[in-house]
Parts: sequence; C-alpha cells; structure tokens
Amino acid sequence: MIVLAALAVVVPHAGAVGAAEPAEAVADAGADPAASRPIYRFWGAGYGNAHFYTLDHAEAQNLHRTDGWWAYEGTDFRVWPLGANGCASGTDPVHRFWSPGFTSHFYTMDAAEADRVRHDDNWAYEGVRFCALSAPAHGAVEVHRFWSSEYNKHFYTANASEAQNLRSNDPDWSYEGVAMYAPASGADSPPVTGDPAARLGCQSPEMSAAVASHDAGKIMRLFGGAGVLRDAIANGRASCVPLRDPALPWVMVNKRYSVSPAGYVPPSLTVPSGSLVGGGLRGDAIGSYEQMQHDVSASGAGRIALTSGYRSYLTQEQIHRSQVSRLGLEQGERLAARPGHSEHQLGLAADVVACGASGCGSMYAFAGTAQERWVRENSWRYGWIVRYESGRTGTTGYNPEPWHLRYIGTDLARVYHDGGYRTLEDFFGLPAAPEYL
Ligand SMILES: [Zn+2]
Repeated sequence: MIVLAALAVVVPHAGAVGAAEPAEAVADAGADPAASRPIYRFWGAGYGNAHFYTLDHAEAQNLHRTDGWWAYEGTDFRVWPLGANGCASGTDPVHRFWSPGFTSHFYTMDAAEADRVRHDDNWAYEGVRFCALSAPAHGAVEVHRFWSSEYNKHFYTANASEAQNLRSNDPDWSYEGVAMYAPASGADSPPVTGDPAARLGCQSPEMSAAVASHDAGKIMRLFGGAGVLRDAIANGRASCVPLRDPALPWVMVNKRYSVSPAGYVPPSLTVPSGSLVGGGLRGDAIGSYEQMQHDVSASGAGRIALTSGYRSYLTQEQIHRSQVSRLGLEQGERLAARPGHSEHQLGLAADVVACGASGCGSMYAFAGTAQERWVRENSWRYGWIVRYESGRTGTTGYNPEPWHLRYIGTDLARVYHDGGYRTLEDFFGLPAAPEYL
C-alpha cells in the first residue's frame, strides 16, 4: 500500500533509536532524576487509536477540558522539561511531529530520523518538547516504541507488562524498539483536574445549524476532523450527519442510494478548460479539478481532459436506455447507472481521458496510461478518489472504471487514501451495493 511505503521511509524501524551511543556516554552525566517528571498520556478515542504525550501541564489540562475526543490516561514515563538553554547536561532532545493526515503524533530522539521527517510533507515539526536519555543509564527504564500499520499511529510506553502484552497478543502493533530511556523515579507532575470535555459531534449545539446550511467544513470541525467524522459515521455515532444530502461533498450515491431529491440540479456548474464536451463540475469541485489537471501535465505524465462531468437525470436516462438495449439489462447496468443513481448528476464526478499529440483517447483506453497511473496515485491530494476500482464490483456494483473520479473533498480524500480504502461504501461502513433494491 502506498501509505505504508511512504511511512516506511519516514519512520524507519527503531533499533536505530538509542542504539548508536554506548552506555558510558551518560554514565557520569548531569541528568538529575529528581528533576524529571512523568509525562501526561492521552488516548485519541476519536482519532483512530492515536496517542499523545506531553509534559506541558497547561497543554494537558487544556486538552482534557476542551477536546473530549482525547481521553486522559494518566501519566507514563519520566522526562525532563526543556530548559531555557536547551536540554540539561546528560539529556538529549526529543523531537515532536504532528501529521494532520494521519491524525498522529510522532516522537523521536534520533536526530537523523528527525531530520528526514522534517523534510516529509506529511509531518509538521513541532519542535523539541522535552528531554530524555538516549542511552541506557543506571536506574533507567526503557520506553518502548510501537507502530501500527492498521491505524497509522505510533505508541510509546514505559510499562513493561503493557509493552509485553502488546508484543505477544496484538497483531495490530509492531514493536520498533527502545525509543528513549527514562529515570525510574523523580518529582511529580501537577495533576490534570476537572471533568473531561464532552465528545460533542452530534451533541454539539451548533450541529443542527451546520447541517441545515450544508456546511461540510463546520460539520467536520464539530467532530474533531475528517478522520473522526469518518470513524463516527462508520461506527454509528454520526446519525446527525446526512449521507444523502447532495449539497455535501461526501454524499452517497450508488445502486442502493439514489440522488435525493431525484431532480437535483447542482447550483453552479463550470466546464473545466480543455474539456471535450459540455457538462461541468460543481463549485466545490471545479477548482481542485483544474489544479489536478494542470499538475498531471506539469508532472510530465501527459494531459488529461474531462469527457463527462455533470449529467442531468434525463441525459442519464438516455445513456442507461442505450447501454441496456445494446448489452441487455445485466451487462448494461454494470456500465451505466439508472437515472437518479449516477454520481454525474451531482456535478461531483469526472470521467477523464488521456490526451497526447494525436488527440485524446477514449475512456476505455485510459487504463494503463501514464495519466491513469498518475491519477490513481495522486488524485486524493486534490479531493478526488477513483470510485470504481478493479476487484470491487461486488461492493460498488460497477465494472472497474479507472477514468471515473469522484470528488469527496480534500480532507476526507486524505483519510480515504491513508486508510487504504478502495470503496466509498467500505469507507463509511455502509452495506455493499451490488444491485438495485
Ligand atoms: Zn463516470
């Protein structure tokens, strides 16, 4: 999977971490255990099994009181606060990163690893947040580092039995080695107090207004981000979020779910430059489509052009009738949606073709072109997914259509890509839709 390959580069297996320096390097260091404090640990209950660690009491207290999607789990391993002049003698900096795409934090003491991750667009560098021991020392315990390719998250713990249990019993987590060393005793951290914030989502007082005004961005924010929204929908915690509102970018249209209302017409449609025929794209999708079309060419993969965007209910009726009379009902309906069941009626679907010096090919000639490959690997960056992939006919009800792209918005498309999803049905935990009901 692309995600995993990317991460394998970003985050090499530890073992490299802390292993380079001999133990005597800190044997007489000035690291004073009495000045160390236990770190606050949070579990991202709404953030796909993320964990977050901070020594900053104000940050921990604020998170606990304002974002119920982060659950405070108590304190864990001991570290030292960063001083005005950096880390105290005998201790080394721990670098912290945040990835909005993976909704995940990452911590490393390995300067070379930190340098590599700083050059990776997936990660934002958040600086040195605390200090720890980079090599074994007398009386120090190991802080273990885990990675889950299932969740795309890192996890750290100094609890030996917790680490052992994860290594023995949980195939979702792979052990990456010792991330850092921590003193076994020292000072206390001030307590995190007060009631945790509610996990709002559907309970937010602002939600009904956001839904009524079809404000996709607001709905996502009230859930704590696109990843949380996805999790909530898939886990049945988002009954307030309409999946069939055609104004929202994540609207679900397949053989089970028709466009509703049936006569829906997008409020504004724009035909992208260089299109072969009419039928434009909706206001929320046109800008990112044109950027993508530009970037395909700029990458050297060649040009793409839109061959079919918006189609009205009546146009779809004609296409459906023509395919069914040509191929029969069963074969015809694997190619053409019934009227009222096409994503093209939303203005959020784009059938694209590859163009060269001698003109543009057909949709059926798109597979195997450099443009097709580029689109398959990169369209998510622009908010578009390949909607009908090979091998998914049992879920989508359609034969593979590498040319049919569907806009779902950049935030959700990133979650879709990072999660390794292949169909929108699976993404939202919805039933397969091989047949009309
Ligand atoms: Zn299409």
